Amino acid sequence: MQQTSYISLGSNIGDKIENLNKSISEISKINGVDITNCSSLYITKPWGKTDQDDFINQVIEIKTDIKPLKLLYKFQNIEINMGRQRSIKWGPRIIDIDILLYGEQSIDSEELKVPHPLMLKRLFVLYPLWEIAPELILPNGTRIKEVLDRVLTREGGNSITKI
Ligand code: ATP
Ligand code: CA
Ligand code: CA
Repeated sequence: MQQTSYISLGSNIGDKIENLNKSISEISKINGVDITNCSSLYITKPWGKTDQDDFINQVIEIKTDIKPLKLLYKFQNIEINMGRQRSIKWGPRIIDIDILLYGEQSIDSEELKVPHPLMLKRLFVLYPLWEIAPELILPNGTRIKEVLDRVLTREGGNSITKI
């Protein structure tokens, strides 16, 4: 059965916009994945490890019948083929592709956690997700807008700029 899944994309090395476009093009080539919506691009301040270049972030909506872990492996292949090196935690990267939500499923394995455990804290995820799925109810029962407003109230909106 096809599921709706939301995917977060981020880049802060090289031609960041080109990297995001390339990753979307590669995702669109995966058999069994249809891209059904793409957010605007957002310039965002680095999160967690702040001494690095700004990121560009985007969220896309896909429909897929590929199982979550297999989907993750396909995304990791794209990351590697685009030249991603795994080094510092939350450090600079050509491309980062994370699974935010996969239908209503909760997954808690070593390799894959869905919903993405930090998504509710990250404006660079919440803002573009709200843009393409304004009515979304998160698995914890809250509306996306409610969570977004809470983080915006706490942090202000200075860390994110829509292109
Ligand atoms: P963060 O997960 O906090 O955004 P990161 O994206 O920088 O950090 P990575 O180095 O890209 O972290 O990935 C580390 C591991 O996270 C991956 O090897 C993968 O197995 C695991 N992982 C767990 N849940 C997810 C998920 N929902 N989407 C992508 N990777 C995940
Ligand atoms: Ca990430
Ligand atoms: Ca990642």
